[in-house]
Amino acid sequence: MGRFKVVEKFISINGEGRCAGELAAFIRFAGCNLNCSYCDTRWANEVNVPYEILSEEEIYAYIKEQNVNNITLTGGEPLLQENIGRLIKLLSKDKSLRIEVETNGAVSLKDYIDIGDNVTFTLDYKLPGSKMNHMMVMENYDLIRTQDTVKFVVSDQGDLDKAREIIEENSLTDKVAVYLSSSFGVIKPEDIVNYMIEHNLNKVKLQLQMHKYIWDPNRKGV
Ligand code: SF4
Repeated sequence: MGRFKVVEKFISINGEGRCAGELAAFIRFAGCNLNCSYCDTRWANEVNVPYEILSEEEIYAYIKEQNVNNITLTGGEPLLQENIGRLIKLLSKDKSLRIEVETNGAVSLKDYIDIGDNVTFTLDYKLPGSKMNHMMVMENYDLIRTQDTVKFVVSDQGDLDKAREIIEENSLTDKVAVYLSSSFGVIKPEDIVNYMIEHNLNKVKLQLQMHKYIWDPNRKGV
């Protein structure tokens, strides 16, 4: 039985990703192996953050009680939880669920990528503006499948150039959904659109973090 450190669980809408705007059950786990400049969940990564320990069965029971089909496993970095594969496997057996794992790009997906067709990964590529670019695990770009997503959180023009380089080098738009997202309050979404026009970035989507526009950008549990 797994023992997972859960700092938050709640129902909201997916603020980003392929199911943006749809209801989802969020399970947020404690701890991260990165320290991004724009991190908006730093509190969840503090060593003394309060958490509850839940087994995979308890998490599944919570999800079923909510009667919501989309599940988002997030953090922190969810794939750092010991035995997280057991939880993903258990959830994936229920074909009424669609499980999205938000992962920071600094953990290999090789042990998780084939767990089930109803499990998708939203893989962050941390650009230089995050100060975590050196931590990216590049083998993940050979593993991702059509149902997965690569997301770039952009802070400045240099980040846009780097994102374009990674998209082109790895032919990402032929393989997966590709999103550019603005680091909230750091770069204007309009600047990203202008860059997309200038560089003819077809099959790339701008995505705004919807929850930050609906609620106070610092609010937890949404
Ligand atoms: S990977 Fe995510 S949770 Fe971890 S420091 Fe970066 S933004 Fe924060």
